[in-house]
Amino acid sequence: MPALFLKAGREKSLLRRHPWIFSGAVQHVDEEALAGGTVDLRSANKQFLARAAYSPTSQIRARVWTFEDEPVDAGFFRRRIRSAIDARQKLNVTGQSNAYRLIYAESDGIPGLIVDRYDDVLVLQSLTAGSEFWKETLADLLLAETGLSIIYERSDADVRELEGLETKVGLLRGTLPDSQITIHENGLKFNVNVGSGHKTGFYLDQRANRQRVRELAKDKDVLDCFCYTGGFTINALAGGAKSTLSIDSSADALALAKENVELNSLHAKKANFLEGDIFQLLRKFRDENSSFDMIILDPPKFAPTAAQAERAARGYKDINLLAFKLLRAGGMLVTFSCSGGVDAGLSQKIVAGAALDASVEAQIVEHLSQGSDHPVSLHFPEAAYLKGLVCLRK
Ligand code: SAH
Repeated sequence: MPALFLKAGREKSLLRRHPWIFSGAVQHVDEEALAGGTVDLRSANKQFLARAAYSPTSQIRARVWTFEDEPVDAGFFRRRIRSAIDARQKLNVTGQSNAYRLIYAESDGIPGLIVDRYDDVLVLQSLTAGSEFWKETLADLLLAETGLSIIYERSDADVRELEGLETKVGLLRGTLPDSQITIHENGLKFNVNVGSGHKTGFYLDQRANRQRVRELAKDKDVLDCFCYTGGFTINALAGGAKSTLSIDSSADALALAKENVELNSLHAKKANFLEGDIFQLLRKFRDENSSFDMIILDPPKFAPTAAQAERAARGYKDINLLAFKLLRAGGMLVTFSCSGGVDAGLSQKIVAGAALDASVEAQIVEHLSQGSDHPVSLHFPEAAYLKGLVCLRK
């Protein structure tokens, strides 16, 4: 087995079971090491620490498969896949929806691999050299362990470039007559396009929060900002909202959102849609003295890494400040950040600053996060990215 030797003293994070080795910690790598192939991680004094996938072009030079001295082979991956599937059943995710995350990379012990299930279709994202190396094996195992026959690949995330990998989109196994799939979630139906939708098609991580909005929306005038295909909107309508106004800059997303209102036979007259830029429209509403009982802010990732945190903070502050101004007394702001570079503490400070500058008094009544099909390994806190607050305006 080729080895990757660490510089003296650089094994500390591995001993705490963090699964990444950055390029700066590497002393030397054996010549036979292949891109994506398995290497032994060894300390400067040659002691075995872990077995990992080698990523020669990435700053994250190796990602741990196992801390045990065990073979990394099809049997190994079969056990990891099986345990991830069992966890989803144990948590009753499968009882709530037929669309959920089946494999969440590092959190499920398979760095680089994301697999989302939409009814009978698996959508796979391979994000690292290691997951790419094992992709065909993983695909076969996924079908064997789920009993399904279709895998659609959506390896089109930007991070692949850092791994020296090209974009790959299309069928990996089986045939798929139509890339639009109808899923159900807590009794509601959604059309999802796994070929062209964001991420793998739907924001599966917001399932529980959509349900919460449904419980809170009764008789409210709801403004759903960054509505995408209507996840929160449809839940607000199903929960008895008086009206919804849903905004997104993508015409395709809005078309699907409207379709989803129809699909659930909801009161289409109460549902209003607007294509445009949230930053401009919130200002327009402020100038027109518009107001709402519930405002949802679920923007895209403004800061993928900590380097963009400052610019992102300005963006979050701006929309939260405007939202507080548009919120009626007694109204509710449901505000999210999914930026890896902005942690929960900073996120809360931004919202607090926004309320202060809007001269609004509010209290946090709930903390929201990603669903249990997006687990967080205790040794890999980076997997927790979705932070939400429900704020009640006085
Ligand atoms: N709330 C959605 C997910 C939102 S994803 C759900 O639960 O399904 C973020 C959305 O913001 C995307 O649909 C994207 O098209 C939209 N978007 C990004 N920038 C925007 C902007 N400046 N104004 C309006 N919409 C924007």
